[in-house]
Amino acid sequence: MSEPLELGITAELAEKIREQGVETYPYECCGALLGTDHAVLANVPNQESGRISREVLSLFPLVNRRDDSPRNRFAVTADDVREAEKAASAQGLEVIGWYHSHPDHPAKPSDFDRDHAWPWYSYIIVSVHTGVPQDMTSWRLKDDRSGYLEEKISPIKASAAN
Ligand SMILES: [Zn+2]
Repeated sequence: MSEPLELGITAELAEKIREQGVETYPYECCGALLGTDHAVLANVPNQESGRISREVLSLFPLVNRRDDSPRNRFAVTADDVREAEKAASAQGLEVIGWYHSHPDHPAKPSDFDRDHAWPWYSYIIVSVHTGVPQDMTSWRLKDDRSGYLEEKISPIKASAAN
């Protein structure tokens, strides 16, 4: 696939992710991105918002369970995945990725992140520096796990999905 990767999200949801990063600072916040990926749904007609095939339409905040190092260790457990998928299907959505914050670190995936990531999902990272939100980026792990592809975050209008 040679198309540039792109993730649509409303300003409101992007702001919620920033707010969670501020609330949990100096610890990491984390959660699931719920939405749709039309690239995997063959029968969905073109939508008005344009060519963005993957869109975040809801968030599912998770508890950071890494008691040993909550400042810099974000990990999604099997229970998290199950709960996020349940929440997604209750809204007619699917889990399309995960988000977390990097307190006092750049919005780039760490080695720990790469070791615990799965291909296909979108990974949003928001940098929170001294309690103030900074850059927000999104990444997809390469299929061979050798690194990440950065994905463009594009603003979309509030959902017309319902
Ligand atoms: Zn991280």
